[in-house]
Amino acid sequence: MTSQSFCIVCTKKSLIAPDVYELMFTKPEGFSYKAGQFVLFEVPLVDNPADLQPRAYSIASAPEEKDLLFVIKLKPGGRASRWVSEVLTEGSVVGMGRPLGLFTLAPEDQGHFVFVGTGSGVAPLRSHLVSCLEYRKSNAGMDLIFGVRNREDLFWIDHFEDLARRHSNFHFHPTLSAPPVDWTGMKGRVTSVMPGIIKDSATTKVFLCGSPAMIADTKKLCIETLQMPKANVHGEGYI
Ligand SMILES: Cc1cc2nc3c(=O)[nH]c(=O)nc-3n(C[C@H](O)[C@H](O)[C@H](O)COP(=O)(O)OP(=O)(O)OC[C@H]3O[C@@H](n4cnc5c(N)ncnc54)[C@H](O)[C@@H]3O)c2cc1C
Repeated sequence: MTSQSFCIVCTKKSLIAPDVYELMFTKPEGFSYKAGQFVLFEVPLVDNPADLQPRAYSIASAPEEKDLLFVIKLKPGGRASRWVSEVLTEGSVVGMGRPLGLFTLAPEDQGHFVFVGTGSGVAPLRSHLVSCLEYRKSNAGMDLIFGVRNREDLFWIDHFEDLARRHSNFHFHPTLSAPPVDWTGMKGRVTSVMPGIIKDSATTKVFLCGSPAMIADTKKLCIETLQMPKANVHGEGYI
């Protein structure tokens, strides 16, 4: 690890949806970051722990919160996926680099924000929402579209619904692409629900996080169909 690295201790590991782990870590002394940033974990190979490789994970907790929260979606056979599911336990010490990335809000950002996350891509959006609503008491309009396939793939629903109940400027839209018959919420791909949520294309700022394919399709919709200024459409692709 470089000199700009930190050791963090896992304090909680829970399976919160199929193949999705929520991980809580201690926040090291002197570690500060902006909502929306990510870090590189030094991930050991399960069969040879001395062999380390970096993997990027968005910080899901707001900078003002006490601990560091992450959510990791397992990929079959992946290095980090095997390490998380087979090796990492509460009490494990993990190497982590400094915060990186520009998926952040500028202090002067005002107006209406539409956050769109698919699967674990909701992680940095949670950080933005908790920071803006709970700590900075922003009264900007905010919508979160959380897209997954099935109802069981949703997580943190109670948390987002509670935020929406307590903050009238925030609206939560869980969206299923393969909904069961009794689902009364939003249905389809995030691109099909967005046009109904973006009221003013000139001033709305969009933050997209998830698969590169979703980001490419949604950027195209925003810029080419909805005629939003390019500078107002931000994407973080989980490659
Ligand atoms: C900025 C950023 C932030 C991110 N934040 C998050 C986050 O918050 N949460 C999250 O879940 N993910 C996040 N990701 C994705 C994350 O970094 C990893 O890519 C993801 O967890 C998979 O890592 P892995 O080590 O398990 O899989 P990898 O070992 O990287 O493999 C990925 C897939 O490819 C397959 N594969 C690997 N090598 C081969 C090969 N030689 N031939 C065929 N198949 C192969 C594996 O079996 C696996 O299915 C983020 C990515 C970026 C860029």
